[in-house]
Amino acid sequence: MTPFEFVSATPEQTQKFAKKLASLLQPGDVIALEGDLGAGKTTFTKGLAQGLGITRNVNSPTFTIIKEYRGNLPLYHMDVYRVEDSYEDLGFEEYFEGNGVTVVEWAHLIETQLPENLLTIHLYHGENGTRRMVLEPKGPRFEQIGKELFNEDFID
Ligand code: ADP
Ligand code: MG
Repeated sequence: MTPFEFVSATPEQTQKFAKKLASLLQPGDVIALEGDLGAGKTTFTKGLAQGLGITRNVNSPTFTIIKEYRGNLPLYHMDVYRVEDSYEDLGFEEYFEGNGVTVVEWAHLIETQLPENLLTIHLYHGENGTRRMVLEPKGPRFEQIGKELFNEDFID
């Protein structure tokens, strides 16, 4: 399958894209964000949070690992960079199967604990400060979401 790709020129465009994705999400959806430091994972999450109707400022949960926000849907924002052992169980599954949307930065570090169906988004640094985002959907639901997202024109 050809990957779904989007090139963002600014943090605002990244957030707008994430906001659009948020409108397609439902409880129990898990989004995995992969990319180097500064690639835009947290910036993306901020946009997603806006789209879920969260008004609180979303910050990187690097030291707390999991932060929870209330919105139209709850957002469980994880940054598992500091999880030392990929099998370390911090109760992830309860979040994944909970009533909210989960976003996991550096998700591959807890790969063994991730659900089967999820949407992985790879963020890459591009030229002139751009960011390339490549969506890798797993399961029919996220493939459908990918198609819907790329059906429309986001960039004005
Ligand atoms: P990560 O969580 O992946 O470490 P952050 O979102 O914390 O990354 O940081 C990304 C940084 O890059 C922010 O300072 C953001 O303003 C900047 N940036 C510049 N251009 C973009 C873009 N097109 N998309 C996302 N972030 C961008
Ligand atoms: Mg981050």
